[in-house]
Amino acid sequence: MRAIVFDQTLTFRPRHPDPPAADGDTLLRVRRAGICATDLEITKGYMGFRGVPGHEFVADVVDSPDKAFIGQRVVGEINVVCGRCDLCVAGLSAHCRNRSVLGILNHDGAFADQVRLPSVNLHPLPANLDDDRAVFTEPLAAAFQVLKQVKIDARTWVTVLGDGRLGLLCAQVLRNAGCPVRVIGKHPAKLALCEKWSIRARPLADIVPRHDQDVVVDCTGSAAGFELATQMVRPRGTLVLKSTVAGGKSLNLAPIVIDEINVVGSRCGPFKQAIRALAENTVDVVSLIHRRFKLEQGVEAFDVAGRPGVLKVLLTME
Ligand SMILES: [Zn+2]
Ligand SMILES: [Zn+2]
Repeated sequence: MRAIVFDQTLTFRPRHPDPPAADGDTLLRVRRAGICATDLEITKGYMGFRGVPGHEFVADVVDSPDKAFIGQRVVGEINVVCGRCDLCVAGLSAHCRNRSVLGILNHDGAFADQVRLPSVNLHPLPANLDDDRAVFTEPLAAAFQVLKQVKIDARTWVTVLGDGRLGLLCAQVLRNAGCPVRVIGKHPAKLALCEKWSIRARPLADIVPRHDQDVVVDCTGSAAGFELATQMVRPRGTLVLKSTVAGGKSLNLAPIVIDEINVVGSRCGPFKQAIRALAENTVDVVSLIHRRFKLEQGVEAFDVAGRPGVLKVLLTME
């Protein structure tokens, strides 16, 4: 099969071995995949991953021990879990001690013609949800996770810090939850998108932090973003970290103690909710698509996805 492979460098391989057969796994033919910040980090050495990256995808089921899935168009959850460890038994299988993670940890991902996943990971898609939108299921689910972790209502003042891919998804989910939300970012075009969605947006340069936000969702992935977030959140407020802060940077943690800030790490989220929101068009993802590339152009696609201000870059396999 064709695949994009990371092994010290990122290359396109026209004849990469097909995924090995594994008991109980479903074989998928990938239709479309999205490049996200985690993929870009992987090419800089994040997680020490070697192999086929890619964890945001839409695919057709080619073969499955679960015959009902064959022929279905699906998206898939990325954590491949054991179901037996203490965390799985406690209902925290996203944190399974024996997990592999699609395209991130010990499991080849979706930037290829074919990929394997257990059928329990799969979610069939409704016919009215096209591939362009469905490919956003995984990152949108991650945005919905914020609502599962933090109590948000119409009186909760929320700031989303960062106008990148994940920040813009979080902002729409929070707006739909009914709270006053604003986005702070650096890119005029993305802030204009927020205005189009009736979400307040402010340029970073205009912000004077006032320790007055109930919740700050940090989607910057930078140490500077984290520190600004600690100055924006009110005492006893909540700081949600959606992206991993670049390793090796020193952080000033004193404000967390002084203002008794709750810090909540937040990762994977509920696929069903994300699929419903996409099918009902309550979240606009099509405006986030920057460009499409064929799988053969995957290396160039990564290069474009890593440029400042670029939103979602998609790979098409057909
Ligand atoms: Zn991702
Ligand atoms: Zn487990």
